[in-house]
Amino acid sequence: MENCIFCKIIKGEIPSNKVYEDEHTYAFMDINPINPGHLLIVPKTHYTEIKDYDEETGMYLFRTAIKIEKALRKSGAVKLEGTNFLIANGPAAGQEVFHSHLHIIPRYADDSYKVRIERKEKPTMEELKQVAEEIKKNI
Ligand code: 5GP
Ligand code: ZN
Repeated sequence: MENCIFCKIIKGEIPSNKVYEDEHTYAFMDINPINPGHLLIVPKTHYTEIKDYDEETGMYLFRTAIKIEKALRKSGAVKLEGTNFLIANGPAAGQEVFHSHLHIIPRYADDSYKVRIERKEKPTMEELKQVAEEIKKNI
């Protein structure tokens, strides 16, 4: 897609530190890492969000992400203690680049990346069931 920074990276029109590429996916270093070793995995096809993916896209994306996370660990390039996989879908979820991508974020128990979670009051089993039933009708 025109004017998409990640499409340009995939085509080599903008430089990136590529670590892997196959028919369906492209993996490269995030330019502004949360922690060193922060990577992005993108489908080569321009999809804005997960809801736009075709049936195989998520499978290929996750396959590459697992391969790269293992390589990151094995390389010892960073001495990570854990990782987060993150996909932001839409601005409310923090998406800033609208070519869908999966972050692999190296994590440390005392790092600066904090996900603040304030949970809602626990729903009843009946309330959970109502939501589950609505979702089931749409699969
Ligand atoms: P989002 O908030 O959309 O999930 O994440 C976008 C990510 O893309 C950010 O972590 C940001 O640092 C990264 N990013 C934005 N522009 C570029 C770029 O030109 N090159 C690279 N390598 N990463 C980028
Ligand atoms: Zn794109």
